[in-house]
Amino acid sequence: MTTIAILGGGYAGLRAARKLAHAKVGARIILINRNPYHYQSTQLHQLAAGTKEPADVCFSIREAAPAGVDVVVDEVERVDRNARRVLLKSHQPIDYDYLLNALGFESETFGIEGAEENSLPLVDVDTAMAARRHLEETLARYRASGDELDLHIVVCGAGFTSIEYLGELVHRLPRLAKEHGFPMEKVRIDCIEAADKILPMFEPGLAAWATDYLSKRGVHFHTSTPITAIRPGQVVSNGTAFPANTIIWTTGVKGSSVIPASGYDSKRNRVVVQDDLSVEGDHREFLIGDVSAVPDPSSGRLYPTTAQISVAQADCAAANVAALLAGRPTRKFSFKSVGTVCSLGPYAGVAQIDYLGHWKLKGLIVGAVKKVVNDRSVLELAGLRTVLGNN
Ligand SMILES: Cc1cc2nc3c(=O)[nH]c(=O)nc-3n(C[C@H](O)[C@H](O)[C@H](O)COP(=O)(O)OP(=O)(O)OC[C@H]3O[C@@H](n4cnc5c(N)ncnc54)[C@H](O)[C@@H]3O)c2cc1C
Repeated sequence: MTTIAILGGGYAGLRAARKLAHAKVGARIILINRNPYHYQSTQLHQLAAGTKEPADVCFSIREAAPAGVDVVVDEVERVDRNARRVLLKSHQPIDYDYLLNALGFESETFGIEGAEENSLPLVDVDTAMAARRHLEETLARYRASGDELDLHIVVCGAGFTSIEYLGELVHRLPRLAKEHGFPMEKVRIDCIEAADKILPMFEPGLAAWATDYLSKRGVHFHTSTPITAIRPGQVVSNGTAFPANTIIWTTGVKGSSVIPASGYDSKRNRVVVQDDLSVEGDHREFLIGDVSAVPDPSSGRLYPTTAQISVAQADCAAANVAALLAGRPTRKFSFKSVGTVCSLGPYAGVAQIDYLGHWKLKGLIVGAVKKVVNDRSVLELAGLRTVLGNN
C-alpha cells in the first residue's frame, strides 16, 4: 500500500493530515510528531507570560488527528531522501512513497555570542514554560535578595512575537507584584531591536500606536541597537550593557534542524520549493509551513512564515499529493492574506485586515478579533469539541 508520511503535527502537518484523510486517497497516512500533543504556537507568548496554561493551548494529537491517520509519537532525526525513509529516535525507520515535511521552526540566534546559553527563547511549550518559571522565580526572589536586577527584564527583538509577549507581560505584572510583594515602580523592561522600527510588518501608524501603548505601561524601546553579545545577566550592544536577570530571546526563527541534517539545500533551514510546493528534483516530496521558503509571485520576495500561510500550504500540498495519486497534474500554490492581528495583552492590539476592503484597527476591539482567529484555527484543525474544551 502507498504510504504518505507527514512530519510534524503543527498547523501545517495536522491540517495536511486532515485534508488527506478527507480526500480518501486510498493510502496509508502516517503523522509523526515529537509530542503526544499539538500546541498552538501562536499562543506561546501567553504561556511564557503566564496568562494562559498549557491546557489552554495544547490538545491530544491522537484525538485531533482524523480517523484513518496513524499517529506516531517520536522525534524525527533525519530523512534519508534517496531511500525514501524517515529515521526516528525511538521507533524503527518508516518508509514512504510521498512525504510532507512540516517540522516547523526553532530559535535563531544569528550566531550572537552567548545568546543560546544566557537567554530564554519561546519556540515550544517546554521553552515557553521554562521562560515563565524563570520570570516568576526571579521576580519572587526580589523580596529576599533586594537585587534590583531581579526586577529587570530585557526582551530581545521588537517583531511580532516580542511585542505580543510584552503585551501579555505588562498585563500580568501588576498581579505578580501583589502576589510576590515587589514594588512595581522598580520594575524595568527594555526592548532591544537592531532595526530602526518596531513591528516592521505593520503600517507606521499602527506600529506607533503599539509602541505608545507599551511605553505608557513601562516598556523602554531601543531601536537601531544591534545586540552583539549576551552575558549572564546582561545584554550587550556594542559598548552599552542592559543588565537584567530575565532575558527573553524573541529575535527570530529558523526552520527545523532536521532540514540540514537531511541534506536539503537550505538557507536558515528553509528550503525554496517549487510553485506546487514540491522539492526540486523530487515531485513526491513537499515542504510546508516554516521549513519552506515560498516566493510570492506578485512581489518576488519570500512569503513570511505564519500559521495562516502554513495552513494554506497544507491545503495545496495535500491536494497535490491526492492529484498525483489520481494521475492528475498538481496545482500552483497561491495565497491571499486576510490580514495580521498583533495582540497587546488579552484585550488590546493592532490589526490590518484585508477582507471586504483594507481595515486598520487598534484598541480594545482587536483582542476580540484575535480570540476569534485563534478559536477558528483550533476549530479548523481539531474540531468543535476541542474549541469548547479550551474556553
Ligand atoms: C509567540 C508566537 C506568536 C505567533 N503568532 C502568530 C499569529 O498571530 N499569526 C500567524 O499566522 N502566525 C503566528 N506565529 C507564527 C506561527 O506560529 C508559525 O508560522 C507556525 O507555527 C508554523 O507552523 P508549522 O506547522 O510549520 O510549524 P509548528 O507550528 O512549529 O509545528 C511543527 C510541529 O512539528 C513538531 N516537531 C518539530 N521538530 C520535530 C521533530 N524533529 N520530530 C517530530 N516532530 C517535530 C513540533 O513539535 C510541532 O508540533 C507566531 C509564532 C510565535 C512563536
